Amino acid sequence: MQNSTYFVGLKTDLTQKAIFFDRDGVLNREIGDYVCRIDDFEVLPDSAACIKLARDHGFLAIVITNQGGIDKGLYSAADLHSFHMKLQDACIAFGTEIDDFYHCPHHPIKGHCLCRKPDSLMIEKAAAKYKIDKSASLMIGDTFRDIEAAEKAGVRGLLIQPNSEKFRLLEEAIRQLKTETR
Ligand SMILES: [Mg+2]
Ligand SMILES: [Zn+2]
Repeated sequence: MQNSTYFVGLKTDLTQKAIFFDRDGVLNREIGDYVCRIDDFEVLPDSAACIKLARDHGFLAIVITNQGGIDKGLYSAADLHSFHMKLQDACIAFGTEIDDFYHCPHHPIKGHCLCRKPDSLMIEKAAAKYKIDKSASLMIGDTFRDIEAAEKAGVRGLLIQPNSEKFRLLEEAIRQLKTETR
């Protein structure tokens, strides 16, 4: 009797698109070790401008970050939240904001998970929640595992050097993406 309801929701309209941002080395300074203290969390100069650029072009701005330091007991989820609020405050001061943050708290020392990049579950979850058209979206990261995670999810990758100026590269990638997926 209720069988017809089984199929409700299977056909979804993918109305949104996103720029997925890796965190360390892209939005805040990669210090070559886990960022455990708020004073070590340094927002990079053009990060807020890049978030604004993404949103001005109609993309959601979503952070996708491995934070295995939580599993290792180096910092807590509450500490992580305070780091992310520091980043969000920098964006708000610039007149923009990050739409959501996804972090994997796991570390291989405690076992395998599906969210830690180069796996793609964080991207998949965000895509499902926000009805994101992954083929019209982009992930910017500073390591190959970011790009691998993106490719597994069917999202294009933009690889940059850690802690580098990235605004123009992102601007060009967005221009290309919009041309190809129009
Ligand atoms: Mg990184
Ligand atoms: Zn995980």
